[in-house]
Amino acid sequence: MRIRKNIALVAHDHRKRDLVEWVEWNSAILAGHKLTCTGTTGALVEKALRGKVAAKNFPEGFEIKKLRSGPLGGDQQLGALIAEGQIDVVIFFWDPMEPHPHDVDVKALLRITVLYNIPMACNRSSADFMISSPLLGQEYVPAAYDYSAYLNREIH
Ligand code: PGA
Repeated sequence: MRIRKNIALVAHDHRKRDLVEWVEWNSAILAGHKLTCTGTTGALVEKALRGKVAAKNFPEGFEIKKLRSGPLGGDQQLGALIAEGQIDVVIFFWDPMEPHPHDVDVKALLRITVLYNIPMACNRSSADFMISSPLLGQEYVPAAYDYSAYLNREIH
Protein backbone atom coordinates (compact mmCIF):
# COMPACT_ATOMS: atom_id res chain seq x y z
CA MET A 1 0.00 0.00 0.00
CA ARG A 2 1.34 3.37 -1.01
CA ILE A 3 2.26 6.21 1.38
CA ARG A 4 -0.05 8.52 -0.56
CA LYS A 5 -3.17 6.39 -0.29
CA ASN A 6 -6.06 6.10 -2.67
CA ILE A 7 -9.02 6.76 -0.38
CA ALA A 8 -12.56 6.02 -1.57
CA LEU A 9 -15.31 8.21 -0.13
CA VAL A 10 -18.99 7.36 -0.53
CA ALA A 11 -22.06 8.52 1.37
CA HIS A 12 -25.74 7.82 0.98
CA ASP A 13 -27.96 10.90 0.75
CA HIS A 14 -28.91 11.01 4.47
CA ARG A 15 -25.26 10.61 5.45
CA LYS A 16 -23.76 13.14 3.02
CA ARG A 17 -23.92 16.04 5.45
CA ASP A 18 -22.07 13.90 7.99
CA LEU A 19 -19.38 13.01 5.43
CA VAL A 20 -18.98 16.62 4.28
CA GLU A 21 -18.44 17.74 7.89
CA TRP A 22 -15.93 14.95 8.37
CA VAL A 23 -14.12 15.92 5.15
CA GLU A 24 -13.97 19.57 6.24
CA TRP A 25 -12.62 18.56 9.64
CA ASN A 26 -9.94 16.36 8.03
CA SER A 27 -9.34 18.43 4.90
CA ALA A 28 -5.61 19.01 5.45
CA ILE A 29 -4.93 15.26 5.69
CA LEU A 30 -7.26 14.26 2.87
CA ALA A 31 -5.73 16.78 0.45
CA GLY A 32 -2.46 14.86 0.73
CA HIS A 33 -3.98 11.64 -0.60
CA LYS A 34 -5.73 10.53 -3.79
CA LEU A 35 -9.50 10.51 -3.56
CA THR A 36 -12.02 8.42 -5.46
CA CYS A 37 -15.75 9.02 -4.97
CA THR A 38 -19.12 8.08 -6.35
CA GLY A 39 -20.50 10.94 -8.46
CA THR A 40 -22.66 13.02 -6.13
CA THR A 41 -20.47 12.42 -3.11
CA GLY A 42 -17.45 13.46 -5.18
CA ALA A 43 -18.95 16.80 -6.16
CA LEU A 44 -19.74 17.58 -2.51
CA VAL A 45 -16.33 16.43 -1.28
CA GLU A 46 -14.59 18.56 -3.90
CA LYS A 47 -16.57 21.66 -2.91
CA ALA A 48 -15.86 21.02 0.80
CA LEU A 49 -12.13 20.46 0.24
CA ARG A 50 -11.64 23.43 -2.09
CA GLY A 51 -13.45 25.60 0.45
CA LYS A 52 -11.06 24.57 3.20
CA VAL A 53 -7.67 24.01 1.61
CA ALA A 54 -5.80 26.80 -0.20
CA ALA A 55 -5.04 25.91 -3.83
CA LYS A 56 -1.28 26.02 -3.17
CA ASN A 57 -1.60 23.28 -0.54
CA PHE A 58 -2.92 20.65 -2.94
CA PRO A 59 -0.30 18.38 -4.47
CA GLU A 60 0.43 19.05 -8.15
CA GLY A 61 -2.31 17.59 -10.34
CA PHE A 62 -4.65 16.89 -7.42
CA GLU A 63 -8.06 15.84 -8.61
CA ILE A 64 -10.88 13.77 -7.23
CA LYS A 65 -11.72 10.80 -9.39
CA LYS A 66 -15.49 10.81 -9.74
CA LEU A 67 -17.21 7.58 -10.69
CA ARG A 68 -20.86 7.32 -11.70
CA SER A 69 -23.47 8.06 -9.09
CA GLY A 70 -23.86 5.05 -6.76
CA PRO A 71 -27.29 3.88 -7.96
CA LEU A 72 -26.16 4.32 -11.59
CA GLY A 73 -23.21 1.94 -11.28
CA GLY A 74 -20.74 3.92 -9.16
CA ASP A 75 -20.67 1.35 -6.35
CA GLN A 76 -19.89 -1.36 -8.88
CA GLN A 77 -17.17 0.74 -10.50
CA LEU A 78 -15.62 1.18 -7.06
CA GLY A 79 -15.86 -2.57 -6.44
CA ALA A 80 -14.00 -3.19 -9.71
CA LEU A 81 -11.22 -0.77 -8.65
CA ILE A 82 -10.92 -2.66 -5.35
CA ALA A 83 -10.64 -5.99 -7.18
CA GLU A 84 -7.88 -4.44 -9.32
CA GLY A 85 -5.93 -3.37 -6.22
CA GLN A 86 -6.34 0.35 -6.85
CA ILE A 87 -8.06 1.38 -3.60
CA ASP A 88 -6.29 1.44 -0.22
CA VAL A 89 -9.00 2.67 2.15
CA VAL A 90 -12.80 2.87 1.91
CA ILE A 91 -14.87 5.38 3.87
CA PHE A 92 -18.49 4.45 3.22
CA PHE A 93 -21.17 6.23 5.21
CA TRP A 94 -24.13 4.05 4.26
CA ASP A 95 -27.59 4.70 5.58
CA PRO A 96 -28.85 2.02 7.99
CA MET A 97 -32.39 3.50 8.12
CA GLU A 98 -33.52 3.50 4.48
CA PRO A 99 -33.83 0.87 1.75
CA HIS A 100 -32.15 1.87 -1.51
CA PRO A 101 -32.77 0.87 -5.12
CA HIS A 102 -29.14 -0.27 -5.32
CA ASP A 103 -29.04 -2.27 -2.07
CA VAL A 104 -27.57 -5.24 -3.92
CA ASP A 105 -24.71 -3.01 -5.18
CA VAL A 106 -24.10 -1.75 -1.64
CA LYS A 107 -23.92 -5.32 -0.37
CA ALA A 108 -21.52 -6.22 -3.18
CA LEU A 109 -19.28 -3.26 -2.30
CA LEU A 110 -19.19 -4.27 1.37
CA ARG A 111 -18.40 -7.85 0.35
CA ILE A 112 -15.59 -7.06 -2.11
CA THR A 113 -13.97 -4.71 0.42
CA VAL A 114 -13.87 -7.47 3.04
CA LEU A 115 -12.81 -10.05 0.43
CA TYR A 116 -9.66 -8.05 -0.39
CA ASN A 117 -9.01 -7.07 3.25
CA ILE A 118 -9.24 -3.36 2.52
CA PRO A 119 -9.73 -1.15 5.59
CA MET A 120 -13.25 0.23 5.62
CA ALA A 121 -15.03 2.68 7.91
CA CYS A 122 -18.82 2.75 7.74
CA ASN A 123 -19.47 5.47 10.30
CA ARG A 124 -17.84 8.65 11.50
CA SER A 125 -16.16 7.31 14.61
CA SER A 126 -14.51 4.48 12.66
CA ALA A 127 -13.45 7.03 10.06
CA ASP A 128 -11.90 9.14 12.84
CA PHE A 129 -9.89 6.16 14.04
CA MET A 130 -8.78 5.36 10.50
CA ILE A 131 -7.72 8.85 9.52
CA SER A 132 -5.72 9.25 12.72
CA SER A 133 -3.94 5.91 12.32
CA PRO A 134 -0.15 6.20 11.89
CA LEU A 135 -0.49 3.48 9.24
CA LEU A 136 -2.14 5.99 6.91
CA GLY A 137 1.18 7.69 6.30
CA GLN A 138 3.26 4.51 6.06
CA GLU A 139 3.79 1.66 3.67
CA TYR A 140 1.26 -0.97 4.66
CA VAL A 141 0.59 -4.24 2.93
CA PRO A 142 -2.73 -5.76 3.98
CA ALA A 143 -2.42 -9.51 4.51
CA ALA A 144 -3.73 -11.20 1.38
CA TYR A 145 -6.29 -13.84 2.20
CA ASP A 146 -5.51 -17.19 0.63
CA TYR A 147 -8.10 -18.12 -1.97
CA SER A 148 -5.97 -20.86 -3.58
CA ALA A 149 -8.17 -23.69 -2.31
CA TYR A 150 -11.10 -22.00 -4.00
CA LEU A 151 -9.16 -21.29 -7.19
CA ASN A 152 -7.87 -24.86 -7.42
CA ARG A 153 -11.15 -26.54 -6.51
CA GLU A 154 -12.21 -29.49 -8.58
CA ILE A 155 -15.18 -29.01 -10.79
CA HIS A 156 -17.15 -32.17 -11.54
P1 PGA B 1 -23.65 9.18 -4.89
O1 PGA B 1 -23.74 7.62 -4.65
O2 PGA B 1 -22.39 9.65 -4.26
O3 PGA B 1 -23.62 9.35 -6.38
O4 PGA B 1 -24.86 9.78 -4.27
C1 PGA B 1 -23.62 7.11 -3.37
C2 PGA B 1 -24.37 5.82 -3.25
O5 PGA B 1 -25.58 5.89 -3.11
O6 PGA B 1 -23.79 4.73 -3.31
